Amino acid sequence: NKRVKIKAVLDQNLIGQEITLMGWVRTKRSNKNVSFIALNDGSIITNYQVVADPNLISEEILKKCSTGACLKVSGIVVESQGAGQSSELHAKSIEILGEADPEKFPLQPKKHSLEFLRDIAHLRMRTNTFGAVFRVRHALAFAVHKYFNDRGFFYIHTPIITASDAEGAGEMFRVTTLDLKNLPKDEAGGIDFKQDFFEKETNLTVSGQLEGELAAMALGEIYTFGPTFRAENSNTTRHLAEFWMIEPEMAFYDAEDNQNLAEDFLKYVINYALENCAEDLQFLDQRAADEEKAKPAEQRAELGLIEKLKFVVENDFVRLTYTEAIDILRNSNHNKKKKFQYLIDSWGADLQSEHERYLVEKHFKKPVILTDYPKEIKAFYMRQNEDGKTVAAMDILFPGIGEIVGGSQREERLDRLTQRMQEMHIPEEELWWYLDTRRFGANPHAGFGLGFERMVLFVTGMGNIRDVIAFPRTPGNAEF
Ligand code: ATP
Ligand code: MG
Ligand code: MG
Ligand code: MG
Repeated sequence: NKRVKIKAVLDQNLIGQEITLMGWVRTKRSNKNVSFIALNDGSIITNYQVVADPNLISEEILKKCSTGACLKVSGIVVESQGAGQSSELHAKSIEILGEADPEKFPLQPKKHSLEFLRDIAHLRMRTNTFGAVFRVRHALAFAVHKYFNDRGFFYIHTPIITASDAEGAGEMFRVTTLDLKNLPKDEAGGIDFKQDFFEKETNLTVSGQLEGELAAMALGEIYTFGPTFRAENSNTTRHLAEFWMIEPEMAFYDAEDNQNLAEDFLKYVINYALENCAEDLQFLDQRAADEEKAKPAEQRAELGLIEKLKFVVENDFVRLTYTEAIDILRNSNHNKKKKFQYLIDSWGADLQSEHERYLVEKHFKKPVILTDYPKEIKAFYMRQNEDGKTVAAMDILFPGIGEIVGGSQREERLDRLTQRMQEMHIPEEELWWYLDTRRFGANPHAGFGLGFERMVLFVTGMGNIRDVIAFPRTPGNAEF
């Protein structure tokens, strides 16, 4: 009696064989002659039909086969008479592994709002939508490793607990074992972190980049793929306090090599999902289409989800500089209504998400690689351009998402780097180890950071980043 998953039953021809399935009841329809149980085991979005004859399965057992219950079903695979699925399982025996009281189980078969499901994140993976999202998320993660492994990049694990806020990227989460009620005082009256576990102030990492650079200067081409923490104090649909970041870092790459790699990588990963997640993407495509229908006509997306993914894979990204982007924004129709005026009055301001969205969704209607930002709005480690005003930065902007990648060629010249650190009041002693890489065997190198959840958001067509990670961490939310 073969134990199989539903995906295997659907992929292979098992007609006539005796098998055992285990999974959760999605729905049950009964009349006095027969019960039809739709079973799902997570292996595929499709529910598999179990046919139970009341002459073989007791009434007491059938009653317990309610939505949410977990079953072990043994029986024979039989060709289906009805339309839809090609086969079904005629049960010889059903064992109830876990009951689900119909009065209490919150996921009764009906359409639940995403907000409601967020409050029951411990159960929401049992819905079709979240099952699809997490299978696609898995495929994307696998594609990330495959892409880099196939190209000779090494996967490096950078520390979660760090002593530096290299990015200046956001508020950090402090790591401490000190008794918060009785903090030890140092000579100046501040907190004495010498008495803490690490004998200094430590935080959860906001980026593995600096450590990644050290690795690239030993192994050539590396990537990290790990959790990253930022105490983002605003609630947006694009920010999490805990997210996963992919950070490749490459010795001997210049800014253009970096852009080429990022574009190739994004297309590969999206295409991998198209090729390997067909059923789930079809479901998500339909879900996204239903959401679009609910919007006013002028706000609806021009392309469906799968069309949009194919479009990104098949077309070159637009590449332009920050200065060129500002010019476009200045001269845009949008600006005739003075919408962008506050930005345009001074060259050097950071782009707001409405500018990014205008460029990507209205002007170019394509992903955009924006380069050469003013140095004042970018991190200290980005390589300074010859104009003295800009740095070799790149942000990649995606339709519906905004920034999906941030990267740059790194400043490998010690004098320029330390000068920039001084201007930005970053103490050299804190980063002596980083500066060492510019003292010993410095080389041109570049890299980027991709927020993995933003990629999952784009590929699944979901609208809120909280719905593409199993247990989202946002202000006030750490229940599960
Ligand atoms: P944003 O402008 O959206 O706040 P950022 O410029 O602060 O992003 P970077 O420091 O450039 O972000 O980090 C690299 C990538 O990590 C970003 O391009 C984005 O994809 C992702 N990212 C950054 N912050 C978050 C977050 N709080 N939650 C999820 N992903 C994030
Ligand atoms: Mg940010
Ligand atoms: Mg940004
Ligand atoms: Mg950025």
